[in-house]
Amino acid sequence: MNLLEVQNLKVHFPVKHGVLSRAREFVKAVDDVSFRIAPGETLGLVGESGCGKTTLGRAIVRLVEPTAGRVLFEGEDIAAMSAGECRMRRRRFQMIFQDPYSSLNPRMTLEDIIGEALDIHGLAESKSARAKRVAELLEAVGLDAAYAQRYPHEFSGGQRQRIGIARALAVEPKLIVCDEPVSALDVSVQAQIINLLQDLQQQHGIAYLFIAHDLAVVEHISRRVMVMYLGRIVELAEAKALIRSPKHPYTQALISAVPEVDAETKRQRIVLPGDVPSPIHPPPGCRFHPRCPIAQQPLCATASPEWRETGKNHWAACHLAKSDA
Ligand code: SF4
Repeated sequence: MNLLEVQNLKVHFPVKHGVLSRAREFVKAVDDVSFRIAPGETLGLVGESGCGKTTLGRAIVRLVEPTAGRVLFEGEDIAAMSAGECRMRRRRFQMIFQDPYSSLNPRMTLEDIIGEALDIHGLAESKSARAKRVAELLEAVGLDAAYAQRYPHEFSGGQRQRIGIARALAVEPKLIVCDEPVSALDVSVQAQIINLLQDLQQQHGIAYLFIAHDLAVVEHISRRVMVMYLGRIVELAEAKALIRSPKHPYTQALISAVPEVDAETKRQRIVLPGDVPSPIHPPPGCRFHPRCPIAQQPLCATASPEWRETGKNHWAACHLAKSDA
């Protein structure tokens, strides 16, 4: 049974050219995306900035409204729920953010930041039970329980991310969307936070959608990885298979740019020409065709590639992707 099943999800933002004008154009930030996450699994999501990965993460927890599609969490469609119904269920899916400081109220103590989540969902019967639970959560994320009366500005970036994780854990979620949770941290602190997330997953069976632009980090933490380009998923595979044998030319280029990930095969660096096209007017056919080093015309510029299985649990959207022998 899947914990999360995303079906044909779209998030299109209207572009207005004046205060009174009606939107005639839309930024297609997420455009027909489908995938599944099993209980306790980590699914990685990589892609360049602006590819839509953060919007996808936010749409899953309903921090942005989906335009179309379904987001089935334990079989219930979060995308179709009223705001009130969604709030009731938010306990089961949480999000942690790239910039922990901006997501923590600077005027609240840690006890109130973490305790607020307990209050919203009625998870503490008394003031003392609330304080005890906050102390437990601080210790669970490697912080001293005595910090409960301090404020966010008194902590380092890594400690703030731990506070954000403690707040998410307070409601005992089954899924956490981790949006670039280590990108703003020093490398040594990144490793500590990754280890913490892995320990918590083992203890509590939490599933993660782990969003990052750093392929090395994603490969380390994820069982499966999907690659996003211009609002669409272009490849999905088990982490090791994706790194060893990427099928999509965009994934090949991403991997070739990270020497520590590509140590085994030592591929030649693939430098993609041009910039990512506008998500308002994505190219016809394969969206990657203007930058693809192996594009075949007219096929790639006119026909959208099918999402097809190229190997065991390995999927790619490319007309020329080779299947495993
Ligand atoms: Fe390149 Fe064509 Fe494959 Fe798109 S479908 S990735 S343009 S070869």
